[in-house]
Amino acid sequence: MPAQIIDGKKIAAEVRADIKIKVDERLALNKRAPGLAVILIGDNPASQVYVSHKRKACEEAGVYSISYDLPANTTQHELLSIIDELNNNTEIDGILVQLPLPEHIDTQLVIEQIHPDKDVDGFHPENIGKLTLRIPALRPCTPYGVMHLLDTTGEAYKGRHAVIVGASNIVGRPMTMELLLAGATVTVCHRFTADTSALVKQADIVIAAAGKPGLVKGEWIKEGATVIDVGINRLENGKLAGDVEFEAAAERAKWITPVPGGVGPMTVAMLLRNTLTACNKHQL
Ligand code: NAD
Repeated sequence: MPAQIIDGKKIAAEVRADIKIKVDERLALNKRAPGLAVILIGDNPASQVYVSHKRKACEEAGVYSISYDLPANTTQHELLSIIDELNNNTEIDGILVQLPLPEHIDTQLVIEQIHPDKDVDGFHPENIGKLTLRIPALRPCTPYGVMHLLDTTGEAYKGRHAVIVGASNIVGRPMTMELLLAGATVTVCHRFTADTSALVKQADIVIAAAGKPGLVKGEWIKEGATVIDVGINRLENGKLAGDVEFEAAAERAKWITPVPGGVGPMTVAMLLRNTLTACNKHQL
């Protein structure tokens, strides 16, 4: 039987609607709206699209947002100074610096400059460390969104084998920690893994996050598995594709996410959720 589609667009809209209700509750109590600062440097077209989605989502959810569109030649010192100001701005709960940054800026230094309590991307070592130690605070948005999608299927984590294809700092590694925290048994594949197909074939939950279109073949998917495709790849014909051979995989999986309309919208929704969480926790 073909898989059931996990509709990330719809689920993300529900998360955003819930955030709007909670923001309105704050306002009704004469509390201020949560505030998010979004910093974009340079003119990377994909980054511009992501940032515009984030700003629009803020507006719709009633989250106050301020934007910095900085030229590509912005110095590291200038960027760090802006972050310092925002760290001290009592109307701002979240600071997001859109990655990738131009090469002359040290990305890790920038991430660590953001106060961990305002690190709504969840990339600061303190937040990654807390997730690893099973005391999550602000959680990396994409893996957090994947967990929300998995939760909606109602399938168990305990006793199930999750195989993650990709081990990056922003997706694969925090995804590993999220699934471990939820009680799954986790295997992580990366570019040096000898036989990724043999491991994926054993998976009850497959998370594809390598950035390689069609890498995960339909025939690798175990009958009844849950398949989450994080990959977003622009093909030569201009279309977007995931890392999974969708049609063939959907013949075997029980649950599957499409691309687009799967994990992508969840990342933005969880960014708003993190901003609200940061606001409620630290800015009563
Ligand atoms: P990355 O390039 O930083 O990391 C890719 C990982 O995949 C690496 O660990 C690498 O070792 C592994 N890998 C590469 N080829 C492999 C292979 N043949 N077999 C097994 N592992 C392999 O990428 P990233 O930033 O983690 O992004 C991954 C994908 O997810 C991209 O398509 C990106 O666009 C997408 N993405 C989507 C969202 C979203 O909101 N949906 C967010 C972030 C990233």
